[in-house]
Amino acid sequence: MKKKAYLCRIFNVIKKYNLVKTGDKIFIALSGGKDSAASLFGLKKFIEQTEIKAELVGFHINFCLQISEKVEKIVKEQTKIANIPLLVIKTKDLGIDLNKARKSSWRPICSICGILKRYLMNKIPREKGAQKVATGHHLDDFLVFFFKNLLGQNFAWISKFKPYLESNHPKQLPKIRPLFKVGSKENKEFCKENKIPFIEKDPCPHTFFGCKIDKDRKRWYRTIYEIEKNHKNFRHQMINSIEKMSKFFKTAYKGEIKECKICGEPTNLEICAFCKVFKKYV
Ligand code: AMP
Ligand code: ZN
Repeated sequence: MKKKAYLCRIFNVIKKYNLVKTGDKIFIALSGGKDSAASLFGLKKFIEQTEIKAELVGFHINFCLQISEKVEKIVKEQTKIANIPLLVIKTKDLGIDLNKARKSSWRPICSICGILKRYLMNKIPREKGAQKVATGHHLDDFLVFFFKNLLGQNFAWISKFKPYLESNHPKQLPKIRPLFKVGSKENKEFCKENKIPFIEKDPCPHTFFGCKIDKDRKRWYRTIYEIEKNHKNFRHQMINSIEKMSKFFKTAYKGEIKECKICGEPTNLEICAFCKVFKKYV
């Protein structure tokens, strides 16, 4: 895909869903990978072109595992090129030990890691004055979520597959997904073409121990790209349908959001998943 067409798809999503407004302070959750880097540069280029007065801040969680220093270095390079500030949170500084949690919890490590990411990606940017959090979730991710939820008959979740995920609680930040209409392949091409550094290898050291989420997701990606070989535009047509479909399920998801009895963060449970897993150590 040509760079112009690629950016055009991102810009159209940002405009259609009003993802960026004057006065916004947007934290971009950067993993070190190509997708969140593409999200950063897509947003930056949009702000530059439209001259909207919005502020971008990079946000990275360093999980303090073997590969983490290398990943953080790449994130630092990305934000340096983009000329935006970067906030790095080291999980050890919060008293969190992923390895300990892995050993004592019945949950798979990828589920623990997901709980930690979602919690910090909301709490820290909010405390630092953010209005929104941008992620690198992209077209292919939403296709995978869609097929999995369709097969699992979790139809209500389809309501979440959209570029702007609104807040349901004063302590919950809205999430924006500028890459809703561009996928993994296009993000990689964009980063390579623009010499944006990114970590190619799977940064998750737990994959080896059975982090099934990533393996499963990659299998789904392969399936989707395989279908596209025989059906031109399959991915794009699918995401356009999902975009429309998500509106049908607007009222279907009704999890009431309240504050966790321990930490006060938003959750639909009495005690949030983070406190259940980590409060034993913090
Ligand atoms: P994942 O669930 O690993 O596919 O990540 C989804 C999104 O979460 C990425 O596109 C990033 O925006 C964000 N993210 C993942 N890992 C990190 C991290 N270590 N620090 C900050 N944001 C992250
Ligand atoms: Zn809690």
